[in-house]
Amino acid sequence: MNGFIRLMPKFLQTLTPYESPREGISGKTAWLNSNEYPEPTAYAMRFDTLNRYPEVQPRIFCERYATYAGVQPRSVLVTRGADEAIELLIRTFCEPGKDRVLYAEPTYSMYAISSQTCGVSTVSVPQTAAGDVDFNAFAQMLADNARAQSIKLAFFCNPNNPTGEVHAPETVERLLQSMPGDVLLAVDEAYIEFCPTMTTTTLMAKYPNLVIIRTLSKAFALAGLRCGVLMADPEVITCLKKVIAPYPVPEPVAAIAQEALTPKGVALMKERVRRVEANRAYLMGELLRLPGLTRVYDTQTNFVLIALENAANVYQALWKKGIAVRNPGDEKTLRISVGTREECEMLINALGAILKGRNR
Ligand code: PMP
Repeated sequence: MNGFIRLMPKFLQTLTPYESPREGISGKTAWLNSNEYPEPTAYAMRFDTLNRYPEVQPRIFCERYATYAGVQPRSVLVTRGADEAIELLIRTFCEPGKDRVLYAEPTYSMYAISSQTCGVSTVSVPQTAAGDVDFNAFAQMLADNARAQSIKLAFFCNPNNPTGEVHAPETVERLLQSMPGDVLLAVDEAYIEFCPTMTTTTLMAKYPNLVIIRTLSKAFALAGLRCGVLMADPEVITCLKKVIAPYPVPEPVAAIAQEALTPKGVALMKERVRRVEANRAYLMGELLRLPGLTRVYDTQTNFVLIALENAANVYQALWKKGIAVRNPGDEKTLRISVGTREECEMLINALGAILKGRNR
């Protein structure tokens, strides 16, 4: 050991990095741990201009995405996955050691991790006893304490990963009405294609402090592409462009992304959503019949959270049977991505056998 870790700033030395569910996964038969679309999409392309830098922002993709989302192209910023959008917001707007980021547990871990990598402290609203996001406490924190707590940026994951809970735009509007206008509310809509009427894009014109984060990794079936989208007031976009790395969107990424946003690409995405819904209905029905689950969380996404005793042991037992699910880090829950029908059946059979074996 050469002690290079001591070269890192103190606030980074203790960082627990994002635990990628992809790690150690080869050889598993069912990958139900990353909320990806379970089947591949094919794109055949040829590139003759890779000697040149790409466009700073891919114009055709931005225009198509704007049309798809119902916003102006100048409100769209393309990023290296939604993860880059999250980090970029923190880096652009939060002063390390001074401003703070707010989020409500349990939620997507990158809000906390990216804050820490930027040296920015967080305020987290604890989950309720039943394991849900405490929406009222989050709203109250934003409305009454944002200033006192130095909160500059709040993340609101809607639908929420991992609970699946989703709030209607009218409810999100109540947050925006009661919070200070100089605090940014970033609504993470990574899973919005599974419940499109819940989008808050319609609120953007009225609330310039509203930022919306999207991704092509879920319903668009392009997690491997690493393409995310941030939508915001053009002034916010200008601030973010000061900080984003040069040429953030590689040419092949832009080319595939713009194909995914043609009318045909969008129609295929909607077809995929219908297939996920059908498999989810099967999965939910079977989960509700299994003995030993204390709760099957309601969901309008491509994943389902279940609560059970000794979740970590069940996680290991599933892993041994070739099935990878996500253990969000507590002893009580597992998150299962909606796979193909065959993968859902495999999961139900394996989980059923594990739970019945336990009850014997
Ligand atoms: N937000 C949420 C809520 C997510 O679940 C994920 C991915 N699991 C992301 C953002 C990151 O998406 P991307 O693949 O576009 O970086």
